[in-house]
Amino acid sequence: MKQRVLFLGPPGAGKGTQAQQLASSHALLHLSTGDLLRGEVAAGTALGQEAAAVMARGELVSDALVLAIVRSRLEQQAASGGGGWLLDGFPRNLTQAEALEGLLEDLGQQIEVVVLMELDDAVLLQRLLGRGREDDNEAVIRHRLEVYRDQTAPLIRFYSDRGLLQSVDASGEVETVGQRIAALLD
Ligand code: ADP
Repeated sequence: MKQRVLFLGPPGAGKGTQAQQLASSHALLHLSTGDLLRGEVAAGTALGQEAAAVMARGELVSDALVLAIVRSRLEQQAASGGGGWLLDGFPRNLTQAEALEGLLEDLGQQIEVVVLMELDDAVLLQRLLGRGREDDNEAVIRHRLEVYRDQTAPLIRFYSDRGLLQSVDASGEVETVGQRIAALLD
């Protein structure tokens, strides 16, 4: 099975849910920059204080900050014997994607597949409104979808140019989507 996987797709597509399940069933590292940032906010660290307002607006936290977090986690894992990972919510723009290439080169690692989770905006909006996270009010959600379209969607081309992209229909039950993803990773 492929062990170095990047999940791409709009907010609400279910990247976190699927990555979490795969990580626990296959003993992979689940690296969600959203979760890590929320952890920093909750812990009240300097980094969290810097990120909180940006996240509440639905904008992207600075590349340098996010990259430092990802670098330290991936280096930590490599130093403690390596293993597979699932990246969820990162990279979110071209700068981050290029930086990730450099970081992986340093570690002697490669992305094996990029799973693009596709879902209609109307369904995304419904899912996110139902989730009730602090940054899940309608205006902020619409802005996050816009940020996705402007900054993150260009990564679809970036990774398809590299022959890594696989699309999956993210509609339906969690388990059904999980089976579609598993089929791509086999
Ligand atoms: P969602 O995919 O539902 O928008 P995430 O948990 O992935 O949720 O991200 C929540 C927020 O955290 C984003 O709106 C953004 O402010 C910040 N964030 C997460 N990952 C990144 C990243 N790679 N670069 C910049 N900001 C990020």
